[in-house]
Amino acid sequence: MRDLTSIRNDFPILQRKVNGHALAYLDNAASSQMPAQVIRAYSDYHERYHANVHRGVHTLSQEATEAYEGARDRVRAFINASNRKEVILTTGTTDSLNLVAASYGDTFLQKGDVILISNLEHHANIVPWMQLAAKKGLEVKVIPITESGEIDREAYVSLLSPKVKLVAVNHVSNALGTVNPVKWMAEEAHSIGAVIVVDGAQAVPHMTVDVQDLDCDFYAFSGHKMCGPTGFGVLYGKESLLSTMPPYRTGGDMILSVSFDKILFNTLPYVFEAGTPPIAAGIQLGAAIDYLTSIGMDTIAKMEHDLLVYATERLSVIEGLRIVGTAPEKAAVVSFVLDGIHPHDVGTMLDEDGIAVRTGHHCAQPVMERYGIPATTRASFAFYNTTEEIDRLVASVHKTIELFR
Ligand code: PMP
Repeated sequence: MRDLTSIRNDFPILQRKVNGHALAYLDNAASSQMPAQVIRAYSDYHERYHANVHRGVHTLSQEATEAYEGARDRVRAFINASNRKEVILTTGTTDSLNLVAASYGDTFLQKGDVILISNLEHHANIVPWMQLAAKKGLEVKVIPITESGEIDREAYVSLLSPKVKLVAVNHVSNALGTVNPVKWMAEEAHSIGAVIVVDGAQAVPHMTVDVQDLDCDFYAFSGHKMCGPTGFGVLYGKESLLSTMPPYRTGGDMILSVSFDKILFNTLPYVFEAGTPPIAAGIQLGAAIDYLTSIGMDTIAKMEHDLLVYATERLSVIEGLRIVGTAPEKAAVVSFVLDGIHPHDVGTMLDEDGIAVRTGHHCAQPVMERYGIPATTRASFAFYNTTEEIDRLVASVHKTIELFR
């Protein structure tokens, strides 16, 4: 196992100072940082083999295609999809979920059908379903969560009527960190003939994800939360479903032939990938997967769990601080509120000490509503964070409380 100092040395940004202090980057759930290996993949592509993919016979185009398609193969192996046709490359989780709603949802859901979404969802896994429901006369029902921030299992089972055709849930909540029982939820959804769409944006960067073991029908995630680039992501879908779905966007690359009489669509996965993709970003995602794999997802999960336990212990004893989201199964996210101090003030104070956290509703307003709060302060950890950074967070929170008291 590599030591933490050498891992941290891979991340140039961790050397930076903010407001005169060493950066303590605790906003990994919003976007994680990039190691030099992944940054280099970008310049390497542009310096040595930048060309368009899929259609060139010349060397550069072939090299670019090989690297880009190599990223797809890495994604396939990383999430254990059964074949590369099941790996659709998108611009991110939001795009992936919109693809499922627009293509699968619009085709196969009918007036009167029910979509279940959990109370824990990010807006990206709410809005597409609500828009689809409004367009098609569907009903959206909400799976409630318990006080600790877990899916209410009994309520979920009782909501599963024959009218339910689709269940949308995140694997890990970005607002609270709860790890949801998606394997069990998939089993239950399948028992009544519904499909399950899993938003894995917060899970893939932090644990081993095996889509075949989870038996989810669709699984979406983003590059920029897993040491990769912004504007790039993945939609996994079972081939048996993807092969029945109409194209999402149309244009070049997603066709086999076009004449004014007839258009023949391309095969999976390309039929869902119209136009020139973000090639460099795709290659970087491949490099990010190589990097994460070199450390090991189980090692990453263990390192981050230790940070979660340490931060929870240290923060929960602070008088006037309340942690929101206390599920036993959590990823390394600590969302908290301080009595009488607005999270934005907390975030600003922490920034003065060089500590980056997120404050606000985390694009999960229904979660905030559930707890009757407008916002939280959220510290989210990655494997490259240290207990010293958590000590600094704790000290800065104490300082903030004293100042505002
Ligand atoms: N779902 C979850 C759980 C997220 O945390 C995020 C990012 N905050 C998204 C979806 C949206 O991801 P992106 O903006 O990369 O499309």
